[in-house]
Amino acid sequence: MNARAQSYRYVGPADLRALVRPGGEGRCIRSAADVNDWASALDPAELAEPCTFVVDAAGVLRVAPRRSEHVVCAGGGTVLSAGELSFRDESGQWVVAEVSNQSTGYCPDVSSWPAVAGALDSAGIKHPSGFTHEVVFRRCLACGQLNIVREEDFVCVFCDEELPREWNVDGAGHDFHRA
Ligand SMILES: [Zn+2]
Repeated sequence: MNARAQSYRYVGPADLRALVRPGGEGRCIRSAADVNDWASALDPAELAEPCTFVVDAAGVLRVAPRRSEHVVCAGGGTVLSAGELSFRDESGQWVVAEVSNQSTGYCPDVSSWPAVAGALDSAGIKHPSGFTHEVVFRRCLACGQLNIVREEDFVCVFCDEELPREWNVDGAGHDFHRA
């Protein structure tokens, strides 16, 4: 793994962090067989929906059923990326169909993609060439609110101030968020 990859701390609400339990982390996916094992325990309807994933601090993909909290999936730790992904059966092989960085708990930058690709490559799982859905997270420096930037419109939806061009979610506004 790239040792210089950015790691992301949990920046979401404290009440969700309180859900973290020892042993409650997402299932480690180190091979296609791990996906098989994990998938066989889910019902088909659940499997058709995007699941929660993180790439943990060691660069390993961890998955949990849909709507699981990312912070629980990560055991409360830092991550290299986080989001949602769906698997598709391609001639008897699990491949990643869709993958996003949609995690309001960690708000990873779109630049975290190499960590996702690296974890999937290590597990021998085919995947798209990038996030199929990119979420641009920014924190407003004026009001401290977390924004999801749509269509490159870098304006805070809460107070109309301009948003920074660089990822800053765990930056100066962090204290606002905890207040
Ligand atoms: Zn604002």
